[in-house]
Formats: sequence, structure tokens, C-alpha cells
Amino acid sequence: MINQLLEHAPLAQFSVQNDCLQIGGMALTRLVDRVGTTPFYAYDRKKITERVELLRQNLPPEILLHYAIKANPMPAVVQHLASLVDGMDVASAGEMRVALDTILTSEKISFAGPGKKVHELRSAIAAGVVLNIESPQEMESIAQQGVDLGIAPKVAIRINPDFELKSSGIKMSGGSKPFGIDAECVPDVLKRLDLLDLDFVGFHIFSGSQNLNAAAIQEAHEKIVMLAIQLAEYATSPVKLLNIGGGFGVPYFPGDQPLDIAAIGVNLQRLIKRIKQQLPETAVALELGRYLVAEAGIYVCRVLERKVSRGQVFLVTDGGLHHHLAASGNLGQVIRKNYPVVIGNKVQGTAREIVSVVGPLCTPLDKLADQMVMARASVNDLVVVLQSGAYGLTASPTAFLDHPPPIEVLV
Ligand SMILES: *Cc1c(COP(=O)(O)O)cnc(C)c1O
Repeated sequence: MINQLLEHAPLAQFSVQNDCLQIGGMALTRLVDRVGTTPFYAYDRKKITERVELLRQNLPPEILLHYAIKANPMPAVVQHLASLVDGMDVASAGEMRVALDTILTSEKISFAGPGKKVHELRSAIAAGVVLNIESPQEMESIAQQGVDLGIAPKVAIRINPDFELKSSGIKMSGGSKPFGIDAECVPDVLKRLDLLDLDFVGFHIFSGSQNLNAAAIQEAHEKIVMLAIQLAEYATSPVKLLNIGGGFGVPYFPGDQPLDIAAIGVNLQRLIKRIKQQLPETAVALELGRYLVAEAGIYVCRVLERKVSRGQVFLVTDGGLHHHLAASGNLGQVIRKNYPVVIGNKVQGTAREIVSVVGPLCTPLDKLADQMVMARASVNDLVVVLQSGAYGLTASPTAFLDHPPPIEVLV
């Protein structure tokens, strides 16, 4: 079984039988046989379901859960999640098409992101998707397209608050940002909105991403709700939906602790009470990407060669940064940290050693693991990168060096 030699906690999420990682109810070796090739990404539908259930158990029942498709847009994953969540957030016409192909009705889909093109606005308006307005100019453009099409576009105002989500891996608000309308400008924008033929749905306030600090998220939720209550006074029709963003992080690196979701739930319970008093017509949605899918996914590649260079062992694999940029360290991030990586068919192994896992690209950055302890591997053994269900394939430079892209399976 698993012992403390395995320095990465995420492995505890997977069961291991006969020293082989299990995924989708089968041994990894069997999955590799069925897929017939490496490298590939595999996403475990049961783990995705369990993740949504964990949220439903810990969050107030009034909270709507939305999935931010960009985290993992594989159509099968999106279809699976469509049966579990209350809405989806898209950021391009391509993602919108995938979302519209699900059982979710169009008003449950919202389209955010700066620089939406006219054809994207028109298809969203025609489909009845909610457009999150990122700027006053975009609002004018949406209204114009609505007049052309003879449809009042459904819109929400994306707000850039004057605070940020503290200790976030990725900050999306506070200060000057390309996202959303500065909070102090929202009263004027609402005034203008009222003169246009737009169907006002509500507010979208997204403040950051990859946050593992429950206290920081609670503080942001509190501020978001206060801001929404304050700005709702300037709206001439009720705020029907308040999208409070997400930002829930997952542990990727040694020392990362899973997010305290129960604490966030307790805090939201309190905030929901306040919203019921002050904005009785407002539903509250959380939009989550990686939290729903990251831990359900693995990336699997095969050892092609064991190479020793001046005492250091390299496992040369058929996978690499062209398929999984994030695990490689995002093209030279300041401090590269190892994702959790194991030998999938020898999780514990009989002997362990320090190795680096590399790919076929001609750059020293093509590294999936840098001097990590893992089971001693041989040619044909399977290297597994855990925590790979989000921002994997579609966030990687697959055209770099022109190798074929990996396949993806939902198991
Ligand atoms: C990217 C994004 C998300 C999802 O972020 P995660 O870190 O994957 O949860 C949610 N909302 C918006 C507006 C985004 O841009």
C-alpha cells in the first residue's frame, strides 16, 4: 500500500492494487491495453461525480455550481458535467458550441472574456446565452447586434472589483485589469444599460484562481457579496444571478494542502442569509474549473529509454511538455516545482531511486519530473502525472516540434 515514501498526497486519491494504479475501475495497465497507445490523458468520471457531490454536501443548497469549460473542454467531460452542474461558463464560440450540445439550456450558459468577436456576440445572442459584458464598448456592441437580430440580448456585467483575491496563484481582479468593468464605473454603465434593449441578468465578479487558502476565499466572498448588494441599488431591474467566481485551488506541489471546503461552505451559508434579506430575487453561482476536474485526470506516457548521464538517471519518455506544459513548469517558470509523478505500474516498486523524467523535445525545459524519488523504472514502464485533469492538453503547445497530439479518454 501507500506509505510516506510517496511524497505527494494526491496519490492517496487513487487506489493501488498489486502496485498498479487503478483508474476508471480498472488497472492502469489494462487501460493502456485498451487505449492501445501512449501518451494519453485519462479522466475518471466517478472522481468528477464525487467532486461535485463533495461540493453539494459542503455548500448551502442554494448555491448553483457552474463549470468553467476552459479547464477541460473535452466534449465527453463537458457532457458528463452537464448532468451534474447547474450551468457552464464559456470563453469562446468554440466552447459555447460544446456547452450548447449538452442538456443545459442556453440561459444556463454564460460567455465571458475580453475581445469577443462580432460573430461570437451574434451567435450567443441568437442562442440565448448570457453575455458577460467586459467593457462599456462591448455593451454598445452587444446592444447593436441585438437590434440587428431583433432579440434583446441577455447580459450580465462583469465587475473588476477594487480588491483582489489574496494568496491566489492567478490574480484576475483588483487594480487595472483587462477583465470586467471597474466597480466604480458600474453605476454609470447600469444607467446606460437601462436605455438599451438589453435583458439584464446580473453580476459576475471573478477575482482569482488556484487558491488553497480558505480564509482568503471567504474574505473575497464577503467582499463580493457586499459589492453586489451595493451596486444592485443602481440597477433598475433585479439582479437575478450573482456569479461570485470561484478560484478554488487544488494541491499540485509538495506541501500544498487541500482547500478547506467546509469552512467556505459555512461562510457562504451566512452570506446566503444576507442575500436573501437584501436581494431576495438573486440566485448565487460559483464557477469552478480546475476544482471539478484537475484531480480526476492523469497523463500517461511510456518509458522509451533509461539514460544515465554523469550519475543522474533520466527516464526518456514518449510524453513531454508539448502535451503537458503545466507539469513541465510552464516554459521556465521562476521556480520549477514537480507535479506529483509516479510509475503507474510500479507505484511502490521494489527499489526506489531519484530520477528525472524527460520527453523527446530538444529543450532542457522538456521535463515532467526533476530529480524525484520514484520506483526504479525500466523501458516500457508507465509514467503517470497526477493532477492533470485541468489545463492539460488544451493548455499545451501541441504544435511545438510537430509530434502527434495525445488522445484523451473519459473512463
Ligand atoms: C478561468 C476561469 C475560471 C476557472 O478557473 P479555475 O481556476 O479553473 O477554477 C472561472 N471563471 C472565469 C471567468 C475564468 O476566466
